[in-house]
Amino acid sequence: MSQPIISVKDLVKNYGNFQAVKGISFDVNEGEIFGLLGPNGAGKSTTLEIIETLRNKTSGTVIVDGLNLDKDPNEIKKIIGVQLQSSGYYPGLNLVQLIELFCGLYNRKVDPMELLETVNLKEKAKAKVKELSGGQKQRFSVATTLINNPRVIFLDEPTTGLDPQARRSLWELIKNIRAKGTTVIITTHYMDEAEYLCDRVAIIDSGKIIALDTPDKLIDNLVASGFERPKQVKLANLEDVFINLTGHTLREE
Ligand code: ADP
Repeated sequence: MSQPIISVKDLVKNYGNFQAVKGISFDVNEGEIFGLLGPNGAGKSTTLEIIETLRNKTSGTVIVDGLNLDKDPNEIKKIIGVQLQSSGYYPGLNLVQLIELFCGLYNRKVDPMELLETVNLKEKAKAKVKELSGGQKQRFSVATTLINNPRVIFLDEPTTGLDPQARRSLWELIKNIRAKGTTVIITTHYMDEAEYLCDRVAIIDSGKIIALDTPDKLIDNLVASGFERPKQVKLANLEDVFINLTGHTLREE
């Protein structure tokens, strides 16, 4: 197998006396969708922000595409894509103008309409971010991660608060991005989402990785350990009912 695109070894982060990340190690393979799962406060954002060069680590080694975080943080910045919260965008600019602004910052040439088309937002080219629905905002913020043609993008809870149609639309977008060769690291609290999207997941609890494998393997291990669901599984769930009644089509356009 080829070299991992991200390699984290013995990563530690202390906030004062409190150890938020307790010596975690994991690799992310090129071209995979890798999930970081765990309860609130587990250390997911801290870990991601360290890899994204946005937060200092206490100790440990982080290598991104062969670049050592200690030596080449600026080179790492050039090959990664990071999502901004929608409050981070200049409120007076429309989507095209925002993309042009990012192009200037990254020193890249991107056709804004082409980029907006990849996230199904061409019709909103002249809209401001505050005029977008939740799903559209998320698609726009995913689009902005792609401007510098990154090797890896980081998505922090990209579908939180979205309706089922918008969530599925974002899933397809994320799969398309990966199909074009970009590695994706995602955090989510939705296990169905992780199961559908992620090739492998790391489960973090209290600053430690307590499991790391494909979703299938983790489920098989649980079943092999004698686990049984307390009641008979139904052949559909309420989300199936909802999607069946309201359709797959996005409502926000
Ligand atoms: P997660 O993303 O999994 O919810 P975080 O990485 O945000 O977890 O936080 C991990 C732990 O570190 C939490 O207990 C949180 O309160 C603490 N923490 C996060 N940022 C800071 C900070 N800047 N100063 C002190 N403690 C922090």
